[in-house]
Amino acid sequence: MGSAVISLDAELAWGFHHYPEPPNDVLRHARGVWGQLCRLFDEYEIPATWAITGHLMLDACRDPHRGHPAGERCCTTATDDLPAGKLWFGDGLVDTVASADVDHEIASHGFTHVHFEHESMDRGFAADELAACVEAADARGFDPSSFVFPVNRVEYRDLLADHGFDCYRGHPAGESDRGPIRRRATKLASGIVGRPAPPVVTPHVDEYGLVDVPASLYLFDFQGVARSILGRVTTDPVVRRAVAGIDAAARSEGVFHMWLHPHDVRGPRDVARLDSILSHVAARRRSHGLRVETMGDVADRVRAASR
Ligand SMILES: [Zn+2]
Ligand SMILES: [Zn+2]
Repeated sequence: MGSAVISLDAELAWGFHHYPEPPNDVLRHARGVWGQLCRLFDEYEIPATWAITGHLMLDACRDPHRGHPAGERCCTTATDDLPAGKLWFGDGLVDTVASADVDHEIASHGFTHVHFEHESMDRGFAADELAACVEAADARGFDPSSFVFPVNRVEYRDLLADHGFDCYRGHPAGESDRGPIRRRATKLASGIVGRPAPPVVTPHVDEYGLVDVPASLYLFDFQGVARSILGRVTTDPVVRRAVAGIDAAARSEGVFHMWLHPHDVRGPRDVARLDSILSHVAARRRSHGLRVETMGDVADRVRAASR
């Protein structure tokens, strides 16, 4: 009996810190999606791992962010219709997740989302980011044990272990973080035909004692193509791929690990996609005993089995 895992990279404006200015249209909508997703997860009683950018845990910030690639005092920047407090701070959204009916896992996604291979990143910066994540979470009463690397750049795992994390979302076997980008070009050119099934993964304890819970499928990877060719949800190629992965996990001992950003959900078709996928997870839980786990649940189970 395998399991399904869903992780979310929840970052608000930090996910766009490298843009000249935060994308108003995306972010205006993104805040509302957090609650919308929580209601959907509640409806199907499916807990998820919310990897939240640490700065969103703060109520206020006096850090000048000197030398930050987004610019000094970046967290005071507003857009035409969004104040800084709605862009760079959770302003109630973290509580929305923590107080949902289902017991979501609160995980970490960097402190300011600078990825760990960024030209301005080094060991000192990475350690500061991790320490700030832990401090901000602790001040809110959270003790995150799972980590999702910003932009999926898996680096400084030793520091992750040093800062008390015990699991992360890695890449499927044989796939580097640059692999999917190359394939993306092929995929767009070929119109997503003949893609291999997304992998059911086998989490394992790595050389730093961390549990790697590899990703199986990004639920909004080829949305440009999908949006243009989709009519009904039954023809949604992402739903078909997710269903195939969920079914494969239900018949195996592995994990099918799906992920998304809240800001990926931009309209009714995106909600319909998630609704179909969550509904199928719930159906396989009933029919096959498929487990629904958070990354932290998987880590605990894998670690216990490896002892
Ligand atoms: Zn700040
Ligand atoms: Zn991110």
